[in-house]
Amino acid sequence: MGKIKVLDEQLANQIAAGEVVERPASVIKELVENAVDAGSSQIDITVEEGGLTLIRVTDNGSGIEAGDIATAFQRHATSKIATSSDLFRIASLGFRGEALPSIAAVSRLSAVSSTETTGLAHRLVIEGGEIKTDEPANAPQGTDMTVRDLFFNTPARLKYMKAIQTELGHISDYIYRIALAHPGIAFTLKHNNNTLLRTLGTGDRLQVIAAVYGTNTAKSMLSIEGENPDYDLRGYISKPELTRANRNGMTVIVNGRYIRSHAVNQAILQAYHTLLPINRFPLVVLELGMHPSLLDVNVHPSKMEVRFSKEAELRALIEQSVKAALGQYRYIPGPEASM
Ligand code: ADP
Ligand code: MG
Repeated sequence: MGKIKVLDEQLANQIAAGEVVERPASVIKELVENAVDAGSSQIDITVEEGGLTLIRVTDNGSGIEAGDIATAFQRHATSKIATSSDLFRIASLGFRGEALPSIAAVSRLSAVSSTETTGLAHRLVIEGGEIKTDEPANAPQGTDMTVRDLFFNTPARLKYMKAIQTELGHISDYIYRIALAHPGIAFTLKHNNNTLLRTLGTGDRLQVIAAVYGTNTAKSMLSIEGENPDYDLRGYISKPELTRANRNGMTVIVNGRYIRSHAVNQAILQAYHTLLPINRFPLVVLELGMHPSLLDVNVHPSKMEVRFSKEAELRALIEQSVKAALGQYRYIPGPEASM
């Protein structure tokens, strides 16, 4: 008998969880992305104690069929891709089939879901990866994921959690970005019964900017748009007089996914050039659209990093569009204009 064995599924999930579930905000990100992928028009997020005691995400999306719920919690189980060619044209936020089993491995999770408007639903309760309850339930169409006692069985990870305010900061930061990315979805975020964000889901991105950054800021934004044969772009950028001390105000959305991209940020900053004081950064909400085959999102488990096929062309488009939006600010008026 050899010494090498394949890990059992529960242990494998716990290991994967180390990567996928870094902190409460990562759980929220995965659950909210699933709700977006399910076509929801309303997503409500409730959090207690920075997400360490309770995270609840409810949506009114497609729901999960009763017979599928337990499968959804198996490792590498997904309804979003089926073949390797799908991997090169990903249109959904999820595709790895790792989130639910990972979260369930390190928490006490209850999933209630229904695909019908009849009230007929199904409930699954999993604690530390073990199924405790699998039964019919009553609920409206959509999905309700409740995660309690995150990291209760991984004390070393729990020890690394920061103050409640820090964890909450990561959570609200993510919710602000996903709300900015999806103005057509109504989001609410509540922490210990305080409402931190409410968006209306009207599709008006400026309304979401107002909800996140305040009405005055929203009023002073410049709209931006542009396209080339491969990419299209739209969004809002701040006038040069409205700057911030860091890049956190730069939100980049690619095919509905909030990402971080040094290349995109640099192209934007390049366009502002000397209009920005040294070490000051604009407020930007930039949405890029492209055929999924021009984008590789399978770079890291968190899917926050992507690779663009035609990065140089994309950078040129961004720079040119930001410059166009900044128009009047870029040219020092001639003598006749200043009269
Ligand atoms: P992935 O999102 O990568 O497919 P997950 O582990 O996050 O993997 O979810 C597994 C599956 O469970 C999804 O593919 C989807 O079919 C289903 N699912 C999860 N959350 C929801 C939800 N809120 N509404 C509808 N279906 C969901
Ligand atoms: Mg997912």
